[in-house]
Amino acid sequence: MSAPRRIAVIPGDGIGHEVIPAGLAVLTRAAESGGFPLAFEHFDWGCEHYRRTGRMMAADALDRLADFDAIYLGAIGAPDVPDHVSIWEMVLPIRQRFDQYVNLRPMKLLPGVTGPLAGRGPADVDMICVRENSEGEYSGIGCLDADGAREEAIFTRRGIERIVRYAFELAARRPRRLLASATKSNALRHSMVLWDEVVEQVARDFPQVSWRKYHVDALAARMVTAPQGLDVIVGSNLFGDILTDLGAAISGSLGLAPGANLNPERLHPSMFEPIHGSAPDIAGQGIANPIGAVWAGALMLDHLGAPEAARRIEHAIAAVLADGDVRTPDLGGHATTADMTRALAARLP
Ligand code: ATP
Repeated sequence: MSAPRRIAVIPGDGIGHEVIPAGLAVLTRAAESGGFPLAFEHFDWGCEHYRRTGRMMAADALDRLADFDAIYLGAIGAPDVPDHVSIWEMVLPIRQRFDQYVNLRPMKLLPGVTGPLAGRGPADVDMICVRENSEGEYSGIGCLDADGAREEAIFTRRGIERIVRYAFELAARRPRRLLASATKSNALRHSMVLWDEVVEQVARDFPQVSWRKYHVDALAARMVTAPQGLDVIVGSNLFGDILTDLGAAISGSLGLAPGANLNPERLHPSMFEPIHGSAPDIAGQGIANPIGAVWAGALMLDHLGAPEAARRIEHAIAAVLADGDVRTPDLGGHATTADMTRALAARLP
């Protein structure tokens, strides 16, 4: 057996404490049966830590995380802690310090799941969003005073180029080789004009990929009316954020959707998390769907060099959903998080 990969585990808040243990159980089983040992170290950072100490994470958190091979995150947020504290003092610093400039979010309707779009099935909804994760509209630059507020979006040529290139490379590896670029250059006449220009330049290196640009509002409509024509979607931080919640909804449930924050050069740890939040409305009831967290764990194994274990987990997810016997309430059933976790573990090939 090789040396264990070291994973920093941050369950965070709310249902993070329910879905991360589920994810760890399935991941450990899949990885170790494939001779790929994992060593987990837990950190109790999040809103409870903030209430106790006034900080979301320990002061030296980023230095400590730097030594890990990957970070496995549950969810961050609580009703009594403002989002600008929980997100800006934890999630965004991690993404920025480790230059996790790719946010990868598969959006796929799996057999056995009923999506909300009438007449659409798994063959119609199979997209993946490549969201810029390090700059754009979430630069944090601006001000708020009595007269109003100003929010600055920062788009660098380098930042756009690297995310767009990642998306084209991904599209070139997928069977349909399609790419849609989300823009809004009709209204955002500086940043999105540059975005379009860079997309056009990068596209010249990928003649095998068919691509189109869509204004983001039209693209949102298209995801609903004609999802079968979409494959890889590349968008800015804000556009990707919005489009992926829509994508998760048309894939059947927010509880199913995984996300990866990647530093593709592997100079720093990447971070893997379900895309849902802490879901305070259902936290503590043991009914959260763990599949988004489990699937995020599969993306982590893939990234760490265990693609067979990742495929085993993805097959287990597909098999349990296709069987349809075990469904958490978000999928219309009565199963608990523990029931779903057992079912997934039992279906690992
Ligand atoms: P936060 O402020 O942390 O983002 P939120 O409630 O605004 O929390 P989400 O946590 O993403 O946002 O939840 C949105 C809705 O989706 C809630 O009704 C929640 O119960 C539901 N939901 C989210 N994740 C899951 C899950 N894993 N299983 C079942 N339902 C979920």
